[in-house]
Amino acid sequence: MDSIEAANAGQLVCPKCGSTSFYVVGTIGFRRPFDSASGAFGTYDLLHGEETPLRAECAVCFSDVTTLFARDPATKIAPLELAHTA
Ligand SMILES: [Zn+2]
Repeated sequence: MDSIEAANAGQLVCPKCGSTSFYVVGTIGFRRPFDSASGAFGTYDLLHGEETPLRAECAVCFSDVTTLFARDPATKIAPLELAHTA
């Protein structure tokens, strides 16, 4: 997985099929009320400011393109997380 021409025009291209469509997959933070007296949980409140993109895959051929994305800071995929997926 090391064709790197994609960095070229700041545009990411799938090294396998040439697609420019991708899925970024990650987690999102949440806040959920909990009442210890009744043991009841309330409804989830998604914290949209707290996304953690973990990996990226091609939307066409589903290749893992996480390493490709991690080279581009704009994708916000942290190289740290990369160690766990490779
Ligand atoms: Zn592809």
